[in-house]
Amino acid sequence: MTDYKQRHGQEHAGDGSLERPSPWRAGHAWLAKAGRACADVIVPPVCLGCHTPVAAHDTLCPDCWRRIDFIRPPLCDRLGIPMPFDVGDRMISAAAAADPPDYDRARAVARYDGAMRDLVLALKFHDQHQGRRLFGRWLTDAGRDLLADADIIVPVPLSRLRLIWRRFNQSALLGQEVARLTGLPFRPLTLVRTRRTRPQPGLSRREREANVRGAFAVRANRVTDVAGSAVLLIDDVVTTGATVGACARALKSAGALRVDVLTLALVTDHALVAR
Ligand SMILES: [Zn+2]
Repeated sequence: MTDYKQRHGQEHAGDGSLERPSPWRAGHAWLAKAGRACADVIVPPVCLGCHTPVAAHDTLCPDCWRRIDFIRPPLCDRLGIPMPFDVGDRMISAAAAADPPDYDRARAVARYDGAMRDLVLALKFHDQHQGRRLFGRWLTDAGRDLLADADIIVPVPLSRLRLIWRRFNQSALLGQEVARLTGLPFRPLTLVRTRRTRPQPGLSRREREANVRGAFAVRANRVTDVAGSAVLLIDDVVTTGATVGACARALKSAGALRVDVLTLALVTDHALVAR
């Protein structure tokens, strides 16, 4: 197991720059520890990926760790995709230069394959929220630079119909966890879908863009949250960037100064999504 993975498997310690100090933190931590000790007796800890027994809650077994392809620097500053070499400065990939995204910067924890794909699908479709603490720690680490500049956290919204069907918005769950760890204001009602869209899987890149174009807006009574602010947009997966791009356009037309995107998973092989 690498240092990186060991570091990410531990509790988010916080470096003081993101977490707000609280006089209740020590007491709260003790209660949380006591609660976890009770929970271990009632529900033994299992791997979030494959459900085999492990030593602690909110983590993965060594096999599942190995099946996660973490995205590490050097990165394209705009798209967050890995770059082949580090020139020691802010780098822009050829893909971002040729077709600049509507958001400013994107960062993701891992590639959308292996165990990360299984974890995202379990979160999204099987109502498995047990991973949210680990996901929150991963996101705060992968998005450290974006969080340092952010004023508010906004999740990508689901349509009302899909929200009823799925019962929760996985992006809101992730955004809430990042807000809890960082103390940044969480604004889940800022963005709204203005019309129904087709599910994106199975659509080409151009079809995805047409499907979500103009499908998001900032609620009239939330424009004051957004105007003049740096917004951190949270989603579970970015495939072609069509959805987060449409959200970024809506946020910027409401006056957002910048829109950065933080996700659990990123599809880095765009050849898989036909144009
Ligand atoms: Zn496992």
